[in-house]
Amino acid sequence: MRGWKVWMMALLAAAAGAQSPRVTAIRCGRLFDGKNLALVENAVVVVEGNHIRAAGRNVAIPEGAKVVDLSRATVMPGLIDCHTHMFLYGVQYDEALLKKSLQYRAIWATVSARKTLLAGFTSIRDLETEGAWYGDVALRDAIHDGLVIGPRMQCATRALSITGGYSPYGYSPDVDIPHGAQLADGVDGVRKAVREQLANGADLIKIYADHRRRGGASPDQLTAWPTFSLEEIRTIVEEASKAGAKVAAHVYNSGAAQTAIRGGVSSLEHGIYLDDATFRMMAEKGVYWVPTLMAYMQFMDGPPAPPERRRLMEGTTARHRETFQRALKLSVKIAFGTDLDGHQENAGQEFVYMVRYGMKPLEALRSATSVAAELMGWQDRVGSLEAGKLADITAVEGNPVDDITAMKRVVFVMKDGVVYKGGQ
Ligand SMILES: [Zn+2]
Repeated sequence: MRGWKVWMMALLAAAAGAQSPRVTAIRCGRLFDGKNLALVENAVVVVEGNHIRAAGRNVAIPEGAKVVDLSRATVMPGLIDCHTHMFLYGVQYDEALLKKSLQYRAIWATVSARKTLLAGFTSIRDLETEGAWYGDVALRDAIHDGLVIGPRMQCATRALSITGGYSPYGYSPDVDIPHGAQLADGVDGVRKAVREQLANGADLIKIYADHRRRGGASPDQLTAWPTFSLEEIRTIVEEASKAGAKVAAHVYNSGAAQTAIRGGVSSLEHGIYLDDATFRMMAEKGVYWVPTLMAYMQFMDGPPAPPERRRLMEGTTARHRETFQRALKLSVKIAFGTDLDGHQENAGQEFVYMVRYGMKPLEALRSATSVAAELMGWQDRVGSLEAGKLADITAVEGNPVDDITAMKRVVFVMKDGVVYKGGQ
């Protein structure tokens, strides 16, 4: 071989060596793979570049790999929250919409995104900006471009409800007040609204299948009235599915829930008052339930409230708990969601409520990993620790099977092969 050729090949080999992906081996005290309801002791996860090369008990640590020692921790797939609001500013609803600029709310959302990632959540389904228009799409893209840190995002953008079917309520009809959701009516109206949202970057569509309204409250139950007709929901689902987008439905009551299921939605959110017949329909059609327990339960653990509000929330949370316990017996697919308003540092509390009300700890973890990934349609990329999946990995101190509050003590976060927390 001529000299220059040898030199050239050596140069190419050196360049290839410099570019070969970095290999990291994580020693796990316990490993939850996202699918099997068992913890594997003394396992190893090998990460190459931004992918998992191997995970399990008999996996050897490759020579030259950087070793991360998590032998005192439980290692699991990066967690997934299927119901967040990065742009929902944690104050009175009207105040966020009427007193905070879109720019301020965008800054708030970048902080929410960082908190989310550091709390161990590497993917989220952000279910509505609550009046901040298409800010979630901008946030998703900015995270992707590396401008700010945060989870992988699927964005619902503005969400849809009917005229008179979304907050804020109670203002004079003479004043033009912005609403938290996009309001659309009739088959043509909703079709156009879905097209607009998809054109502006929505990954999925969120609808309000029912919504609380003024003047309808009973003393111990949140009252919600149905919104869209079956025909409107079918149109929304049809239009979304052309773009491969799923539809999530906020709903409290069974009547509106059954209309939404017949219309073809993929998930029901909250579902405080769902009955057995609705859960059976969901199980049959593979519709997921995202119960968002903490959105309601945390009120009960919060500061004292006026007696009227207390009565309402006590009644509501008692029903929600009972509904959750029935769903566990009816084989409904339950996906993890917090409904937090940008305070994702508290997201681990949702696991505590799930387990407190009867879910097994590893089932709760599975709801936030492989089950959530399926709901998002991302099961080929995230939600389990298997060869070929993206290297999204979270670890918590201790053992969540013995003490579910361990989910609040996140000690390690890797997303796309990059370590954001722990790992020294
Ligand atoms: Zn919500």
